[in-house]
Amino acid sequence: MASEFDLIARYFTRPAPAGMLGVGDDCALFPVPPGMQIATSTDLLIQGRHFFSDVDPRALGHKSLAVNLSDLAAMGARPIGCVLGLALPRADEPWLAAFARGFHDLADEHGCPLMGGDTTRSLHDLAISVTVFGAVAPDQALRRDAARAGDQIWVSGTLGAADVAFRLLDGQWPADAARLAQARRALEWPQPRVALGQALGGVAHAAIDVSDGLLQDLGHVLAASGVGARLHYDAMPAAPAVRGLSPAAAAQAVLGGGDAYELCFTASPADRDRVLDAAARAGVPVASIGFIDPRPGIVVMGADGQPMAELPRGFDHFPAS
Ligand code: ADP
Ligand code: MG
Repeated sequence: MASEFDLIARYFTRPAPAGMLGVGDDCALFPVPPGMQIATSTDLLIQGRHFFSDVDPRALGHKSLAVNLSDLAAMGARPIGCVLGLALPRADEPWLAAFARGFHDLADEHGCPLMGGDTTRSLHDLAISVTVFGAVAPDQALRRDAARAGDQIWVSGTLGAADVAFRLLDGQWPADAARLAQARRALEWPQPRVALGQALGGVAHAAIDVSDGLLQDLGHVLAASGVGARLHYDAMPAAPAVRGLSPAAAAQAVLGGGDAYELCFTASPADRDRVLDAAARAGVPVASIGFIDPRPGIVVMGADGQPMAELPRGFDHFPAS
């Protein structure tokens, strides 16, 4: 039987970059780049709530870090490193090896080494907690409270595929292998928009990553900034996996679907070309979906030119009954 310390040594200990003290001491140590602030964020993933118990462990390792890197991206921060808390029902080594591979591969891709963590036995389900640290110049952080009336609203990538995959895998919809094949990667292997977030520093005003649904997450930006939004449904970058759904299901997936991990951000219309240039440098498509309005609330103009009457709701762990 491998001990706790064997598992940590085998799967979670790797040489730390120069200047960093990684796994093995009471704390990790890393230098703060001069003139920068530390951006930090934590996400907790619980089996049955955030992932299916039979999910590919390599994909789960990837996603555990990806959802955190997405928060750094939404702040415009450059990743420094991360820590990982694991509550494991059992020490399943092939599972751990695959999980660690998915985690480390994404960490390497974004220069975000695993610096430490905690490993315990869980009496219940698997739980994974990742905390990331990044650096951002104080005047370049993409805060939620920085949207201004007249700003153009943008979203990266496409919307809806992860929601479609979730509903199919969850059995909410009849089996549809072709659609699932189109959608599944978006749910299990989200690509955090880290390069885009940094490229938008000094260009975009406010930003958020779409984890609980576009309208709900944009709503947080609007509330923090004291403004509203006018959006155009036709301008939304709907994922191919949404095509052919009923109009209501498509609107729910695009406007209310969670787990997209795209960036929604605002910028002055005068900076349109700078936004497009940042997107081109990051290699991520962006779509202009509407404008910030001084009047509060969200209005989505439908394909018929009329405001959509029923707007989808996003995800809430504790919905008011
Ligand atoms: P402590 O008793 O101080 O919490 P531990 O014995 O829990 O230390 O951990 C030993 C070392 O291994 C620490 O440096 C800790 O950060 C690291 N560590 C433990 N679990 C993990 C993990 N899942 N991933 C990365 N590092 C880990
Ligand atoms: Mg510990």
